[in-house]
Amino acid sequence: RRRMTVAPTDAETRARLILSLRQGGVADPRVLRVLEETPRDLFVPDLFQERAWEDSALPIACGQTISQPLIVGMMTEALRVEPRHRVLEIGTGSGYQTAVLAKLVRLVYTVERYRTLLAEAEARFKQLGLLNVVTRFGDGGEGWPEQAPFDRIMVTAAAPGEPTRLLGQLKPGGVLVAPVGKGAVQSLNRYTLGSGGEVDKEHLGDVRFVPLLEGVAKEL
Ligand code: SAH
Repeated sequence: RRRMTVAPTDAETRARLILSLRQGGVADPRVLRVLEETPRDLFVPDLFQERAWEDSALPIACGQTISQPLIVGMMTEALRVEPRHRVLEIGTGSGYQTAVLAKLVRLVYTVERYRTLLAEAEARFKQLGLLNVVTRFGDGGEGWPEQAPFDRIMVTAAAPGEPTRLLGQLKPGGVLVAPVGKGAVQSLNRYTLGSGGEVDKEHLGDVRFVPLLEGVAKEL
């Protein structure tokens, strides 16, 4: 089991990461502040503790990854969240992106297909006192119909095709950010739903995510 206390990372180490995120193009001061305040070490396996505040993706359990902080910053900024929003996240993983969103919005609904990852993430939300996160074990490709529609949706695994089903769970004026593509490199897309149901799609850059898989994992 993970130890329950993590020595707080010094301010200088945190500030160094935030500076590189700013240089990488993250400009929203609210997003930068939340990234500075969120203890990434808590979300990273013991083996990689020394690298927790590096700007790189790192392996987590179940063959998955915790996203690179720059990508978390870019995607969070691109989602254009507001404090009153209810947000759906697909792919809880370590829970790092979830925690970042939870500090910016009213409620985060997050779906993960590995029970192990979900249980570990839930323990972290509890430890951080994040009471506005609702978790679900399931296939995120189906979204969360019972709680739809959402103000915002973020997908943190690469969708093989256009996320049509998830777009159907967005409010008019809503925004969905997702990596889309079948290859090793995917297109990070932002979809904005107009009031008449029309969808505006923007390409934000190239990213590398683990794939969004169908169904729940049979393994732990
Ligand atoms: N946001 C995470 C990124 C985790 S990697 C973090 O910051 O750590 C992507 C995650 O999506 C993995 O945990 C993977 O298991 C999950 N995933 C993949 N396909 C999924 C699906 N269909 N439903 C739910 N989760 C899925």
